[in-house]
Amino acid sequence: MHNAQYFDGRSARLFPVALSCADGQLHIEGSGISWHGRLDQVRLAEPFLQAPAIVYLPNGGRCEVGDGATRAALTDAIGQRPSLVMRWQRHWYAALAALLLLLAVGAAIWSYGVPAAAEAIAARIPASMDQSLGQSALKQLDARVFQPSTLTAPQVAALQAMFASVAPAQPLQQLRLLTRSAPSLGPNALALPDGTVILTDQMVAMVLGKRDGTFDDDDRAALTGVLAHEIGHVQRRHSVRVLARSSLTAAASAALLGDFSAVAAGVPALLANLHYSRAMETEADQYALEALRSRRMATIPLANLLDGLDQMNDKNMPDWMKQVLPYASSHPGTTERGARLRQAPAR
Ligand SMILES: [Zn+2]
Repeated sequence: MHNAQYFDGRSARLFPVALSCADGQLHIEGSGISWHGRLDQVRLAEPFLQAPAIVYLPNGGRCEVGDGATRAALTDAIGQRPSLVMRWQRHWYAALAALLLLLAVGAAIWSYGVPAAAEAIAARIPASMDQSLGQSALKQLDARVFQPSTLTAPQVAALQAMFASVAPAQPLQQLRLLTRSAPSLGPNALALPDGTVILTDQMVAMVLGKRDGTFDDDDRAALTGVLAHEIGHVQRRHSVRVLARSSLTAAASAALLGDFSAVAAGVPALLANLHYSRAMETEADQYALEALRSRRMATIPLANLLDGLDQMNDKNMPDWMKQVLPYASSHPGTTERGARLRQAPAR
């Protein structure tokens, strides 16, 4: 005889009962309850270390047995063999192995699944979408980040000529070059998904240095390289690919953490603050390198410009970030890129 608690499955009322097993039968008796049935008709819930054992009866009711000795006796009498999972989870090494496996699967999905899915999604985003993404990004940037350019008309004309000289015969998008002043971005260039390339006045000022406002051969080579690099991003649709990846990553974390509003709100901000992967920067650099070489222009001025940008970042960036960025982040160190441009064999 063992003390147990009976619930009839229809109300929350608790009936104290006595429970016994004999000759393959289970007997439940107590305060107006009398149930007898074959042991092979009842089901024992998966036992937890301290929790009461729960016996499910074929009539929809259940019995809860609290004390350890009764639980063991009941398990023996019912003869229910613990499942594989139940046996595994009793061992710390099996639980640890399961945890490690879970983490490994999660990491694999993060590093391979998300990028692969993003590439597939980006490939299905129509070119018309590139247009509207680019236009809305420019509108936002003009409202928040950019000011009208203060470059002279001859300077802008010279930049447009450099841009046209490295534009491919059959561009993926209609390419156009805009100039803007952007004190908060500093020397920078951006490529939007619709084929709009934006060069900041600050970049032109950095290339010109303290000299008068006309471009010499080195200035032309450096700026042509920068523009070609941005065209490389457009030609390979890097911004759309990064956007698909970031949105997907955000959507995946939102699915895990349950906050979807962040995904919808984040798209314009993502476009204005894209971080291309190292592989993408290398592709764009390769495009610039070939463009400069095929025009018999020097690649060293572009390398020098990247070094200059790197030193400027150095001044503004805390030390820990400098350590982390070239290795862990998607933002490739410009020193590394400058070095690669220098090592490229001259033709
Ligand atoms: Zn780039």
